[in-house]
Amino acid sequence: MHVLLVEDDPAIAGSLREGLARYGYEVDWVTTGREALAADAPGVVLLDLGLPDMDGLDVCRRLRARSKVPIIVVTARGDEVDTVAGLEVGADDYVAKPFGVREIVARIRAVTRRHATDATGEGTEPAPPPVRLGTVTIDVAARRVTQGDAEIALAPKEFDLLVALARRVGSVVTREALIDEVWDTHWFGSTRTLDVHVSALRQKLGAAVAITTVRGVGFRVEHADAS
Ligand code: CA
Repeated sequence: MHVLLVEDDPAIAGSLREGLARYGYEVDWVTTGREALAADAPGVVLLDLGLPDMDGLDVCRRLRARSKVPIIVVTARGDEVDTVAGLEVGADDYVAKPFGVREIVARIRAVTRRHATDATGEGTEPAPPPVRLGTVTIDVAARRVTQGDAEIALAPKEFDLLVALARRVGSVVTREALIDEVWDTHWFGSTRTLDVHVSALRQKLGAAVAITTVRGVGFRVEHADAS
């Protein structure tokens, strides 16, 4: 994904570019509001508010007026007024300096995910229709899983995990994506927890839903006939 980094401080920009590259982001770095407005459409914008040529809030407002690109406002001012103002002119989130690369990555993932969810109309009324996996029905709104008339009781994270897999039935969902989606986005710990939850799900769902392990990559829920 392309990140448009709008930041006039070379030291901050340098460490962010390096850090984000380690997470696989391609960073286009500009130092002025004018350049930010002229840049190619990125996947996400990291926008410093204190820019040499324009007020960052104006840049934010103008970007928002013409696109839905997720915008994360970065402020050195640590100022609540700026933060609120940033959100009012269309920023999706904000971080105050100083911050770590992990924090920025977590924010980027959160806003881009929210953005993708909004774009598909999920998360807005009316409630999403139940997901059917063979003989199993997942009522996402009610957080219930049933097979025929019987309810399959799942722990909250087991439920979230099943939904994350079921939404991409037939495709491999990477371990990273699952952890990111089901657990806290700030959680960068051991992935053992994921395996424990997958085993629990397999036990509870039995033969009704097949969860395939794709070694070293992730998991896949298979298409099943609703017979
Ligand atoms: Ca600045």
